[in-house]
Amino acid sequence: MSHIPEHTSTIAQRLNGVRTRMRQAAEHAGRNIDDITLIAVSKFHPQNAVIDAFKAGQHVFGENRVQEARAKIPPLRAHNPQIKLHLIGGLQRNKAQDACEIADVIESLDRPSLAQTCLKIGEKKGELPQFFIEVNTGDEEQKFGIPREKADNFIRECQKNFGSLIQGLMCIPPAGEDPRPHFKLLRSMAHVHGLQKLSMGMSADYPIAIEEGATHIRVGTAIFGKRPNLSRCS
Ligand SMILES: *Cc1c(COP(=O)(O)O)cnc(C)c1O
Repeated sequence: MSHIPEHTSTIAQRLNGVRTRMRQAAEHAGRNIDDITLIAVSKFHPQNAVIDAFKAGQHVFGENRVQEARAKIPPLRAHNPQIKLHLIGGLQRNKAQDACEIADVIESLDRPSLAQTCLKIGEKKGELPQFFIEVNTGDEEQKFGIPREKADNFIRECQKNFGSLIQGLMCIPPAGEDPRPHFKLLRSMAHVHGLQKLSMGMSADYPIAIEEGATHIRVGTAIFGKRPNLSRCS
């Protein structure tokens, strides 16, 4: 009992720092802080890190990989139903079944084939999680997300087929670019389609995303610290 693991206080402190900056950004933008959900992105960090954040009052978690998420989040959620899991990574069709089983929200719906698969799963199960449609706002070749010129059609189709399960849009602006135009674009797309929710902004740019209307920000490093090396590409 003489020794409190360092990461415990660090995660709680960092979380508080993020909350403070969120509040400041919301105030600055004349927005209500209650309209902005912080998703703590715990990918590649151990379940203990999730528990530390939970103890510090964090309830919504983001994970990239279905298998990793399944091992970490649902066991905690079983005893703490206020915990919510957002899957935010590119999703293969063969993982869709598992994803639909464990996620409260899938933020990476980004192509018709995946939508078809999810609809079939929904018909069988009688239920589905909520979805955000991921838009590749920078039209980057190797990135997930529906390309810009296909987005309007895809969003319309999804709204027709999934109804109100389609909650909003998500984007990851190109690295090294000013994210603001991408946030503006996502917001205007959501507006056109009558979608209320916008998942945008990460550790480096969430105050800007809040200024531009984000309802969900996805923050990893600023809460949990640097990810181990193997997370290089995500
Ligand atoms: C990893 C990841 C994040 C968090 O990124 P940080 O820079 O660590 O805050 C947010 N969104 C997605 C889709 C991610 O893969």
